Amino acid sequence: NHVSSPSSTSSTARTEFEDGGESVINLEQGDPTMYERYWKEMGEKTTLVISGWQSISYFSDLTNLCWFLEPSFADSVIRLHKLVGNAVTDDRHIVVGTGSTQLFQAALYALCPPNGSEPMSVVSAAPYYSSYPLMTDFLKSGLYKWGGDAHRFSKDNNNRRPYVEIVTSPNNPDGSTRRAVVNRIDGILVHDLAYYWPQYTPITSPADHDLMLFTVSKSTGHAGTRIGWALVKDKEVARKMTKFIELNTIGVSKDSQLRAAKILQAVADTCDCGGVGSPEEGQATFFEYSHNLMAKRWNQLRVAVEKSQLFSLPEFPCGFCKFSARSFQSQPAFAWLKCEGEMEDCESLLGRWRILSRGGKHFGVSPKYVRISMLPRDQIFHLFTHRLSTIES
Ligand code: PMP
Repeated sequence: NHVSSPSSTSSTARTEFEDGGESVINLEQGDPTMYERYWKEMGEKTTLVISGWQSISYFSDLTNLCWFLEPSFADSVIRLHKLVGNAVTDDRHIVVGTGSTQLFQAALYALCPPNGSEPMSVVSAAPYYSSYPLMTDFLKSGLYKWGGDAHRFSKDNNNRRPYVEIVTSPNNPDGSTRRAVVNRIDGILVHDLAYYWPQYTPITSPADHDLMLFTVSKSTGHAGTRIGWALVKDKEVARKMTKFIELNTIGVSKDSQLRAAKILQAVADTCDCGGVGSPEEGQATFFEYSHNLMAKRWNQLRVAVEKSQLFSLPEFPCGFCKFSARSFQSQPAFAWLKCEGEMEDCESLLGRWRILSRGGKHFGVSPKYVRISMLPRDQIFHLFTHRLSTIES
């Protein structure tokens, strides 16, 4: 189960990644296939066998408010948060969801007053995650509606309408570290902390908010397992979220929860047996491995951007990570690329070079920006940076 460090496989001949610009490079979605190699190299450590008689019941734990939460999954969540130090779990209810996508919707249902005179506004500072407006308005709920950019809402909100603000930190798409924008004591906040993990950003303190969302999709890369979790302070809110999931899908796949538990425990085991200074020579812990690979990719991207001279990238301040005991700059899961100069539409410019990205408009800002996934498999990432470096106006 030796996990080679990213640098040891990086010297593959450059020419292997040059395809004459023929193939389509799809970086439009944040599919985390980058993590596949690590998990392959972990071999049998995360293999789970589930017999035909297991996981048959709808119920997991009738003593728990969230009755479909598998106790072993809850244990793995608490253990990993304590090890990484990225979230407070004491005195919190854990609600499991089919991805944090389901929990986002459960949270909106739970937080909005049931008999408000008008739908509550759901806002987030632009650029915001492009799925928030789509998920919020999909079913035209009478409880809530998308209210757009939190900065604008904050300025216009003279009549003190109620609202929920989604705070995404580090942010998707631009990787920035964020706090609430609408500054009101009666404001309701949901913290989407999908990327608050040490491969992406320094862990400066355990997050301690009322409602925090996490997901295995971006922490370990198991997006297909469709497991997320919410850490919820208020019992009634947790109860209503549980009710939403009960009516939506009568709980959450036990098979997936057991698999997620196995994977989170495996990640915690690698941290426990050596922290970031790896125990055996050459054997990297999960976060060390993924941190180094992200660092390498960001370097490679910045070199390509400099070469082409058409684009720019955000810069991130250096922060001290208490988990890894070192300072570094954020190295987000997405690159927020800006087309400099005359060019108006960055998505179409890249499209002409067969690079698929998601344009700024989806995130509530100018089409001069695009979001590009930093999490594809190695070969695709190399092709991408190589092609980007050759783009000319
Ligand atoms: N929140 C943010 C900020 C995300 O980027 C994503 C995934 N792109 C999600 C939530 C959804 O994650 P999941 O796969 O757990 O539904």
